[in-house]
Amino acid sequence: MQEISTFLSKSLFIRGLQCHKSLYLQKYRPELKDAITDEKDKLFSGGNEVGILAHDLFPSGSEVPYEGLSYQEQLELTESLIKQGHHTIYEAAFQYAGVFIKADILHLGKDGWEIYEVKASTAVKDYQVHDAAVQYHVLSGINLPVSKIYLVHINNQYVRSGDIEVDKLFSKVDVTETAKKKQAFIATELKKQRDMLNGNEPVIGIGPHCYDPYECDFKGHCWRDLPKDSIFDIRGRLNNKYSLYEQGVTSMYEVSPEFLSVTQSMQIEANRTKQIFYDHRAVNGFLKNFWYPIYFLDFETFMTAIPTFDGIRPYQQIPFQYSLHYIEHEGGDLKHHEFLARPNTDPREELINKLIIEIPDNACVVAYNKSFEIGVLKILAEQYPQHKKQIDEIIENMKDLMEPFRRKEIYHWQQNGSYSLKEVLPAMLPEFSYDNLDVRDGGMAMQSYATMNQIDDPNEIENIRKALLEYCALDTLAMVKIFEKLKNNDFKESS
Ligand code: SF4
Repeated sequence: MQEISTFLSKSLFIRGLQCHKSLYLQKYRPELKDAITDEKDKLFSGGNEVGILAHDLFPSGSEVPYEGLSYQEQLELTESLIKQGHHTIYEAAFQYAGVFIKADILHLGKDGWEIYEVKASTAVKDYQVHDAAVQYHVLSGINLPVSKIYLVHINNQYVRSGDIEVDKLFSKVDVTETAKKKQAFIATELKKQRDMLNGNEPVIGIGPHCYDPYECDFKGHCWRDLPKDSIFDIRGRLNNKYSLYEQGVTSMYEVSPEFLSVTQSMQIEANRTKQIFYDHRAVNGFLKNFWYPIYFLDFETFMTAIPTFDGIRPYQQIPFQYSLHYIEHEGGDLKHHEFLARPNTDPREELINKLIIEIPDNACVVAYNKSFEIGVLKILAEQYPQHKKQIDEIIENMKDLMEPFRRKEIYHWQQNGSYSLKEVLPAMLPEFSYDNLDVRDGGMAMQSYATMNQIDDPNEIENIRKALLEYCALDTLAMVKIFEKLKNNDFKESS
C-alpha cells in the first residue's frame, strides 16, 4: 500500500490545478511520466538563466539554494536570513499548513516584503497569477506582511545595446489585488487536492486540460489506449473532438462528415484508401512561376530569452546556419553552398555577407514555408542596411514550395494531414529520411548549436558540426527532390 502524502509544493499545487490525476500520478506513480525531451530540457534551463539574471533587479541578495539543502534546511536558512536583517533573498523558502513555496525574489521594500515571481514568458498569463496567489496564501498564513506581489516577465520590445539592462529587459506587473482576491479559491482548491490525495486515483478522462496550460507529462500513459488513426490524429481544428471522444468516437473513420472541413475529409479519405491526391493542372501552373538559376535556401536559427548580441530582441530568431542547393540552368548539375557559424561568435554578418555573394542577381530562390526565411532576411536587412537592396531582391524572388501542399493540390496519405517538410519528404520520397540523422529537426539543431557553444572538446564540436551540416543539407536537398518530382509529374492523379 502506498504511503499517503498530502504535502504540496507550489509546483505540485499548480500541477493539481491543471489536473488532479496528474498530481495524483506525480505523487504516487511518477514512473509513469513521459521521458523529458531535449526541447523541454532546453526550455527549463532557459527559464533558470532568466531567473538568475532577474536577481540583478535587486543585486547583492542572499540565496537559499535548492541543491544540497533539504526543505527543512531551506526553511531554516530563510528564517535566519530574515532574522539577520537581509533585505533581499533569492529563492526564499516558506511553509504553511503543509504547503511549501519558494519565492524567486523576496525584497524588503518601504511598505513591507515584496515578492517578485519571475517568468520567461513575454506577457503575464492567467495561470501565473495562481502561482503568485499560492505564495500569498503561505506568507499570510505565517504572518509575514506582504505589501506587493509582482509577476516579472520578459519585455520583448527590449533591444540589447551593450551590457544587458535588467530594468529594461524585465517588465514587472503588480498582481497583488488579483492574488488577494484568489485567496478563497486557493484555500478551497488546496482542500480539494488534499482530499483527492487521500483517496483513490481520480477517474479523469483525457481532454483539453491535457494541454492547458502545459502539455501534461503523463500523456503517454493516459492516451495510450487510443487506436491508430485516432480522432486526435485529425489535423486542424475540430471543435468537438473531445465531446465526440466522450461519446465513444475514438477512430477518425467514425467521425461524421458534417463535423469535418474539406481538408480533414481528404486526410481521412486518403488514410482509408492509402491514396495520393494530385491536382496535375494546379501543380503545373504553380511550377510555371519558377525559373533558372534556381537556389533552394534553408536557414537554421536559434533564439534566447536573454538577447545574446547587440541589436537583438528577446526570442528573436538569429540565423546561424544555411544550406543552399542550386542548379544554374535547366538540366544543369546540382551544386551546394553552406554556412555554419563558428562557436561563440555573432553569426549574422558573416552569414549574410556570404549568402548575398552566393545567390546571384535575379535567381529564383526557393524555400519551404518562405515566411520563415523572409522573416529572418528582413531582420538581417534592418541590421545590415548596406545589404538591404540585395536582401530585398532575394525576398522578391522567393517562391514557396510548400504552397501546393498547403493548398492540398497534392496530398499523400502518409503526410498524416500535415504539410510540413518533415512529413512531406518521407511520404513523397521514402528513400530520403531524417530518421537516421543525429539532428532531425529545427529544435534539435538549435539545441546542438547551443551545446557546441558550451563545450571545448574539438572532436565533439566537429561531430556536432557534421550533424548540423548533414541535417540542414537534407532540408534543401529534400526541396530539390520534391521540386524534381513535381516537375517530372511523377505522381498518379487521383480519380
Ligand atoms: S494526460 Fe490529461 S488526463 Fe492524464 S494526467 Fe495528464 S492532464 Fe490528466
